[in-house]
Amino acid sequence: MSTLKCPRCDSEKIMQDVLILNAMGSGLNIVVINTEASILQKTKREALKASVCGECGNVELSVNNPKQLWEHYSIKKNT
Ligand SMILES: [Zn+2]
Repeated sequence: MSTLKCPRCDSEKIMQDVLILNAMGSGLNIVVINTEASILQKTKREALKASVCGECGNVELSVNNPKQLWEHYSIKKNT
């Protein structure tokens, strides 16, 4: 994996895949809702994670399994 750089300060002190927890200790999720999906599977959630710069504190967010989320998002209206 290539070296990551902070987009804000160019530091290479990037902490990857840091979890984001609320005060109760639960992780945050991205939730994709597709009303076209079957009734039991309208929502799909994946953990939100962050890359944090250890120099300036810049935070970049990303999500696990983006392709699965996209597939879910793209379920359509096959009409
Ligand atoms: Zn930085």
